[in-house]
Amino acid sequence: MEKSLAITTKRTRGNNKGICKSPENTLVPVLRKDDIPDCYKHTPLEKLLLYHNLNYPFGSYSNAEMLIVMCIDNRMQLHLPDNFSYIVRNGGAKINTVLFPLSFIVATTGAKTVAVIGHSDCRMRDLETHRLGFISGLTEQGWTKKRAENFFVEMKSSFAIKNVASSVLADTRTLRSRYSNLLVAPLYYSVEDKKLYLIKEGRQKNKINKRG
Ligand SMILES: [Zn+2]
Repeated sequence: MEKSLAITTKRTRGNNKGICKSPENTLVPVLRKDDIPDCYKHTPLEKLLLYHNLNYPFGSYSNAEMLIVMCIDNRMQLHLPDNFSYIVRNGGAKINTVLFPLSFIVATTGAKTVAVIGHSDCRMRDLETHRLGFISGLTEQGWTKKRAENFFVEMKSSFAIKNVASSVLADTRTLRSRYSNLLVAPLYYSVEDKKLYLIKEGRQKNKINKRG
């Protein structure tokens, strides 16, 4: 578990749902159906959480009901039925370099629900520590050192993450403002227990944003 977003098992007084506190954001486990917020009920987000976290029996789908944006990390494997979701994977679940495929799905399919899923121990959090390996690895692929170095510097700002939950929340807000009739949810995948968590949004509302 990453240091800045450690899930603890501390329970706040009067709360019996095991809400997880973190230094900057709050992760909320989904251990039973009642843990799913009302705003996600009867939406594909409820199905996503029931299938993946609670092993509900799979439904049958001929068309995708939602879009999932998640990191490239091989440890993230979702337990979902065939055809249930489009999945766009990008470093750190960042949306800024995959806006065309996202727009394509939003515009041309019936998937109007999106989950942005960050995860624990994401390598985009310590991107700088991978700089030398990135450069030497690309030089082994025929790149000049200078070109590899410039590419790293050029792309770093698009992918480096300080706090996973904050990054997911920022991209969630961007999607809501860019596409006015999407239901967008910020989620978190723990590579330790393989479960999805809700990222609590504070004043931000988990609802379809009607702003244009
Ligand atoms: Zn990652």
